[in-house]
Amino acid sequence: MHDPAIPSLTGADPEIARLVQAEARRQFEKVRLIASENYVSTAVLEATGSVLTNKYSEGYAGRRYYEGQQVVDPVEELAVTRARTLFGVDHANVQPYSGSPANLAVYLAFLEPGDTVMGMALPAGGHLTHGWGVSATGKWFRSAQYGVRKETGVVDLDEVRDLARAERPKVIFCGGTAIPRTIDFPGFAEIAREVGAVLVADIAHIAGLVAGGAHPSPVGHAQVITTTTHKTLRGPRGAMVLSDAEHAKAVDKAVFPGLQGGPHNHTTAAIAVALGEALDPSFGLYAHAVVQNARALAAALLDRGFDLVSGGTDNHLVLLDLTGRGVGGKPAAKALDRAGIEANYNTVPFDPRKPFDPSGVRLGTAAVTTRGLTEEQMPRVAEWIDRAVTAVGDEGELDRIAGEVAELMSGYPMPGWA
Ligand SMILES: *Cc1c(COP(=O)(O)O)cnc(C)c1O
Repeated sequence: MHDPAIPSLTGADPEIARLVQAEARRQFEKVRLIASENYVSTAVLEATGSVLTNKYSEGYAGRRYYEGQQVVDPVEELAVTRARTLFGVDHANVQPYSGSPANLAVYLAFLEPGDTVMGMALPAGGHLTHGWGVSATGKWFRSAQYGVRKETGVVDLDEVRDLARAERPKVIFCGGTAIPRTIDFPGFAEIAREVGAVLVADIAHIAGLVAGGAHPSPVGHAQVITTTTHKTLRGPRGAMVLSDAEHAKAVDKAVFPGLQGGPHNHTTAAIAVALGEALDPSFGLYAHAVVQNARALAAALLDRGFDLVSGGTDNHLVLLDLTGRGVGGKPAAKALDRAGIEANYNTVPFDPRKPFDPSGVRLGTAAVTTRGLTEEQMPRVAEWIDRAVTAVGDEGELDRIAGEVAELMSGYPMPGWA
């Protein structure tokens, strides 16, 4: 049953209530390996579902355009203070609605339309909002994109430096959505300094690992840091822009009034709760366990003959390259889903196939770590992945695997389900 229980919803709108229950059950029964997903705590769920959603509060604490901020102001101040403490930054803006708007705020703060931005290409592991062509950031700004080396699957900073010298970007983004290796923040900072660019570290995926000490921090290297709050950081869907004191004012002006109206106060409260959880020493154990699980999963997949982009992982993320298995990423991801293992198809660097049917499957271990799975279970998970990818089209075998998956997961409690 969904927890907290939803009796009012069940009474008022049984159709939606049934769907919410079904989603809670689905999340309980599956091995969830989508690298950008997690399970938030029941406390975060409660804050997200609170009456704070009823309030308008354009502006910032102490400087609002609507009255009645006696409660919202301290909520936002707590979120800001906790973000600054957790990451060790001068400034935090906790209002961006999500990761993409947070990145848009960076463009508004530091670029004029037509100015040059540099980011990692989407097929190499970057994010749409780092200047990719179909995104507003690639349409309204001049974009120079770096990739990874074909032989290693890893960013080559010499190439990044050459590109930066040639293109003279005003902003350089580092970070991405499908990068299995440690990001060299000092290396990027040196390049940004040389060409006079603002370095933005987009740590949407790894924020929880950074907070928990399982990935180096960009603080002191990147002047501006953007992050979602709902991936490894394990908060509600939302985002933050962190910065040094020098860039704080520009960031705040860009988020509001530049880009957004009223902040989502229920989300702000839930972000504060999640940041409070991340400040607890137990969060460091979780962050390190996420990485250990990813390493163990990668090792078990390599043992079974799978190819991994960059040959393994340093963080929460494993990128399967199925080129050698003779199956596309999309049919593989669909077979995995039927088998109770949730993942997403993904391009691999230098992908010979098309973006809507690429060669890769992206896996991440944040959600299963939150459920309590350890390195011990990772060979079992790798076995299921192997069997499912081999059994594309064999619904009997996929359903058999789904049964085994649900049986394992029934032993691991899920916040949001009782
Ligand atoms: C997820 C992600 C985003 C976008 O976040 P949304 O909340 O989906 O808009 C931005 N940058 C990176 C690197 C991401 O992984």
